[in-house]
Amino acid sequence: MGRHLVLAGCGHAHLAVLVEIGRFIRRGHRITAINSSPYLYYSGMGSGLLSGTYRPEEVRFHVQKTAQDRGANFVPGKITRVDPVSRLLYLESGETIPYDVVSFNTGSYVPAEELGGREGSTFSVKPIEQFAEARLRLIDLCRTPPVRICVIGGGAAGVETAGNAWRAAKECGNAFEVRIFSRGLLLEHFPPRARRLTLRSFESRGIRVEEGVQIVRVSPDYCVTREGRKVPCDMAFIASGVRPSPVFRLSNLPTDEQGFLLVNPNLQSVAHPEIFGAGDCIAMESRFLDKVGVYAVREGHILASNLLAALENAPMSTFHPQRSFQLIINLGDGRAITCWKSLAWDGKLSSRLKDRIDRRFMRRFQVSGETAGRD
Ligand SMILES: Cc1cc2nc3c(=O)[nH]c(=O)nc-3n(C[C@H](O)[C@H](O)[C@H](O)COP(=O)(O)OP(=O)(O)OC[C@H]3O[C@@H](n4cnc5c(N)ncnc54)[C@H](O)[C@@H]3O)c2cc1C
Repeated sequence: MGRHLVLAGCGHAHLAVLVEIGRFIRRGHRITAINSSPYLYYSGMGSGLLSGTYRPEEVRFHVQKTAQDRGANFVPGKITRVDPVSRLLYLESGETIPYDVVSFNTGSYVPAEELGGREGSTFSVKPIEQFAEARLRLIDLCRTPPVRICVIGGGAAGVETAGNAWRAAKECGNAFEVRIFSRGLLLEHFPPRARRLTLRSFESRGIRVEEGVQIVRVSPDYCVTREGRKVPCDMAFIASGVRPSPVFRLSNLPTDEQGFLLVNPNLQSVAHPEIFGAGDCIAMESRFLDKVGVYAVREGHILASNLLAALENAPMSTFHPQRSFQLIINLGDGRAITCWKSLAWDGKLSSRLKDRIDRRFMRRFQVSGETAGRD
């Protein structure tokens, strides 16, 4: 007898499940996909939206259409809680959705509201689609120079944002300033050479780097450092790190100390075998995983096969995260830095390689006419 699988959130890991929906349905199962937006924007190309390198339709998957075209039910909305005893999902709309097996891929968010800021001029780097709106705002602000842009957070997302904001502002042709603040060193969890290459690139372009400086508040016209210094700011980007959605804690599911859903190597909740999770929203009990799309995508294939196995009481496969992965940071000037283990190198070739890898990934999962303008 067929059972009901619910995909809670349509992030990067669920793409591999969405394209396989037909296989589940042919075996008699029902699928419901829930997502807060009809689209998923691909983070690897997100900062390119800010610089104008990519158009929105080039970097998004129409997850609603992908699900519906293959016979799944799609529910637009935000999940607020799960009741593992009655096997019910609660939505912000008040709707409830029952499940036999549920898989969470709800990602993570940047707690930007903690810093304040002005609506329309303060953007967090997640959700990725905000970069498109930020680009329009930046171009608008550039009409009345000088524009002072502050990026808060010195990790890879902050570096990409600063580099691509510089490019967008530069193309406007008026006076501007870009500053990036890092609580510790810039790119401190990356190979030291990646930091040196970034500092060199930013210095040559006049992007000011403030290391060891924590921003505690964003006001309409300035950012405030921990020491109380006010830095003039017309537009702020928040890239200060990610948090999990509150759904797991509110539902009393086992989580790590930050609130990410705790899963075993089958990607199953350690307490409820019919609850699965993948991507940024999980923590593996056996190993720390960086919050990168690389893992979300790799987990997708194991997840698809384990969800089918869970519906049919069949044996599961184990996810073995790779020890190291390649990350390419888009500097926004036609160059990128490739990081691999303790090595880092930069150049135009890295940028072309990143573009090729990213476009190949898009082709694999843009299966609903996204680029033909039918979305
Ligand atoms: C600027 C930037 C650049 C990055 N570049 C890279 C890179 O080059 N390579 C890399 O590996 N990683 C990169 N990352 C990290 C990457 O973004 C994340 O690791 C990745 O997005 C995680 O994918 P995910 O599927 O878990 O979540 P997401 O991509 O965040 O997807 C989650 C989905 O769930 C939906 N959702 C969320 N909450 C709910 C809810 N309560 N109810 C219903 N739906 C919900 C969202 O709408 C979204 O569609 C970058 C991050 C940023 C910010």
